[in-house]
Amino acid sequence: MNNPYDTENIFAKILRGEIPNDTVLETEHALAFRDIQPQAPQHVLVIPKGPYVNYDHFAHTASDAEIVGYTRAIGKVCEMLGVQPGAGGDGYRMIANTGSDGVQEVPHLHIHILGGRRLGRMLQSKT
Ligand code: AMP
Repeated sequence: MNNPYDTENIFAKILRGEIPNDTVLETEHALAFRDIQPQAPQHVLVIPKGPYVNYDHFAHTASDAEIVGYTRAIGKVCEMLGVQPGAGGDGYRMIANTGSDGVQEVPHLHIHILGGRRLGRMLQSKT
């Protein structure tokens, strides 16, 4: 499996502090910040701090501590945004655009958490 990581991608620059961001949460293994072009009232990106291109790269090569830390950070962000259905929220959508078919613009793993409005169907029914 070949997942070359571009150290000049914009999220790598954010992690190095070279570009500002609107931080929601920072932990040992993850950073969450507001999307610069929000598509919903709540639109937060959660990224691991390590150099992972996408989720399958992360799942195959990250340490257990990174995987747990990243996953817990995603859960914490959902809690902070108040979108958890189990805690009175109205729900959310998690998206990880990956590669060319997934139309991934930034080649550093990021999960979008979107909420605060009805988001419609996941995909238009084209096959
Ligand atoms: P994608 O790679 O297709 O999942 O999309 C990348 C996302 O990153 C888009 O929603 C952009 O609006 C967002 N984005 C790009 N640059 C920044 C930035 N400097 N700060 C916050 N979000 C950004």
